[in-house]
Amino acid sequence: MPLTLYDTLRREEVPFVPAEPGRVGMYVCGPTVQGEAHVGHGRAAVVFDVLRRHLAFSGYAVRFVQNVTDIDDKIILRARREDVDHAVISTRYAAAFARTMDDLGVLPPDVRPLATGHLLEMQALISTLLAEDKAYEVDGDVFFRVRAFPAYGALSNRRIDDLMEGVDVVDRDRKEDPLDFALWKAAKPDEPSWPSPWGPGRPGWHIECSAMAATHLGAGFDIHGGGLDLVFPHHENEIAQHEAAHGTTFARHWVHNGMVQMGDAKMSKSVGNVVGLAAAIDEVGRGPLRLWYLSAHHRSPLTFDDERLDDARAVFQRFVTFARAAHRAAGDVEPDAATAGPHREAFVAAMDDDLNAPVAVAALHQLVTDGSERLRAAAAGDDAARAAVADLGTTLVTLADDVLGLGIADVLARAAALETRIAPLVEGELGLRAEARAAKDFATADAIRDRLTAAGVVVEDTPAGAVWYAAEALRPDA
Ligand code: ZN
Repeated sequence: MPLTLYDTLRREEVPFVPAEPGRVGMYVCGPTVQGEAHVGHGRAAVVFDVLRRHLAFSGYAVRFVQNVTDIDDKIILRARREDVDHAVISTRYAAAFARTMDDLGVLPPDVRPLATGHLLEMQALISTLLAEDKAYEVDGDVFFRVRAFPAYGALSNRRIDDLMEGVDVVDRDRKEDPLDFALWKAAKPDEPSWPSPWGPGRPGWHIECSAMAATHLGAGFDIHGGGLDLVFPHHENEIAQHEAAHGTTFARHWVHNGMVQMGDAKMSKSVGNVVGLAAAIDEVGRGPLRLWYLSAHHRSPLTFDDERLDDARAVFQRFVTFARAAHRAAGDVEPDAATAGPHREAFVAAMDDDLNAPVAVAALHQLVTDGSERLRAAAAGDDAARAAVADLGTTLVTLADDVLGLGIADVLARAAALETRIAPLVEGELGLRAEARAAKDFATADAIRDRLTAAGVVVEDTPAGAVWYAAEALRPDA
């Protein structure tokens, strides 16, 4: 079944058809780097990272472009408050954003264009709009003439005449029509500015994305993404600027993610009033936090509260625990590649159905349930069960990590490294415990076990003897 995506412009789920078979160009609006990212920013990051990963997993060569808005009113304001240059602020928070994305397991963009690095491309686009009479200049400001683009409002499903209410009153006296928006802003005293054919100034926000997306992906690129809050006016304006200037389609598919809502007071239990994204990753862990982001369909609202975070933690722990148990039980046996097939198909079908991550995660749960039923036989040495469990464990980690970006393999590797280091110590203790038990000195045996538990080592007695693992190291935020 081919991938379908809900397209905001067409207002229906449509088959995903790239302009060039096998290749995908994706543009997702990036951060305005004026402060730390918060939990809300993480949702678009994870949703489009998962879309990108799923496309790559499905065999597409993906080119992912995300801009950095490094000049803007808020950046200028903060720079003034701290008495530093605007570039100091944008550099600091661009670096912080990249670090946080890395910690969240979000793959870095293939191209990360800076707004201030694309002023010539923006000015060329503005010049075309002026030449086509779709824009006009007023004392160094350039405005887009909204009524010169009849398709305006198609993305957000609004009629131009309905937009008059609540319209932006900025520069109202300078604009021909209150609906018009700034393409280029004339320099104000003490503000950073760059030369242009209309005098010194800086670009409007919307023109950045129109210019940078077309520069790095070409016109008619495949997927434009962002939060639902960007549909109007930002994306509406991006389309208008490009299509009014060139008469060609700007982007073939428009994908938007729903917003994050802050939960009730219960949230304070484990996360305090933490809404900073870096702090949330520290507190919750990459894997569980991503599972929380993926716990609702990407277009639905999502609530940040303890209950949902606890659920996500439990899911992650279940996956890690099974992957680890499967790996141990399987040993070096060849995986039986037929076992996980139906689970894999269910997972891929869910992702192909408008990126339905909650159903895809449910398919992984089904895989774990199936595998758990075979674990005992596998642990007892049944070769068919071992081969089946090997395939289920490997498939779980592949789908969860490669497509959902959970980072299970990292957690397992960290635990394995720790276990290798402490094995002589633990084995020595377990030897003493076995001797104590043989001598019916259960007090000593229990004391040894308690000591190990306190150190984060879980001991389980099986018919084949005591087995142990470093439980602490398996925690996502360990
Ligand atoms: Zn944008």
